[in-house]
Amino acid sequence: MSEFVYEVLAEQVPRYPNQSLIIRTREPARLPAALATEDPESIVGARLLSVDADSEPLHAWALGLPLELVIDDPATEFPLLYRHTHLLENHPVRVAIAVRPGFAKAVRLAVALDFAVRLEVGQPEPALIEELAEVLGFYLRQPTVAQPVEFFHGTLLGFFHEEPAPLWVVLDENPQYQRQVDDDGTEDLPGRLAGTGIALAADAGLDEWMERTLAADEECQRCEFLQSCGGYFKWPRRDYDCAGVKRLFGELRDAAAELRQDLSQA
Ligand code: SF4
Repeated sequence: MSEFVYEVLAEQVPRYPNQSLIIRTREPARLPAALATEDPESIVGARLLSVDADSEPLHAWALGLPLELVIDDPATEFPLLYRHTHLLENHPVRVAIAVRPGFAKAVRLAVALDFAVRLEVGQPEPALIEELAEVLGFYLRQPTVAQPVEFFHGTLLGFFHEEPAPLWVVLDENPQYQRQVDDDGTEDLPGRLAGTGIALAADAGLDEWMERTLAADEECQRCEFLQSCGGYFKWPRRDYDCAGVKRLFGELRDAAAELRQDLSQA
């Protein structure tokens, strides 16, 4: 048994006995029957790739299992979140929202419905940086936000406690521990590293990954946010201009400093 957590399709589960698995599916209704004979301990989460699908069969299945709902087209799909609120009664549920024009509405609704959020942030262009800044302002200043919006939440905590965690950890794309199994059965690195072809020894730690590849770029090595980012935004396009994301990191750092000051005066 390796230490990796593999993200697999339900039909690929038998290839990974005694491994920690995250199951992804477009047909959640099939999961309870498809996994009935598998060791429940090995399944550590499920990702529902379509918010259009009926999630009712998962309501009373595998109580407490973390679920992630994936929204690829936030501008049109966000109202579909209402269909899945019943899952919150029995599961921690996070919504993975693609950062595309109009995604702010999806974040606001997800948070209002009490879902946690993980932004699939990609390598945002200037117009999306503005929408990200708007969502960051909402996350920082709206008192009704009770659920984490990642990567804002983990990064803010890192600045606040002066223990930054790179986005590879905050956004669950850690090449030290995670592998994704493609639909054709090919094992790949997680998230944005899939298809890049980079490889290190199976026992390489995240620090080694960052030093040797992920943040080896000279700009990253000189970057004031290296510890919080880890070179994340330089993948997969290495020439990505980080000016906008550095502004967001700066706002999070300032917010953490303000919070510390407020607490010290309380
Ligand atoms: S913000 Fe850009 S330059 Fe800084 S560490 Fe991240 S990817 Fe590298």
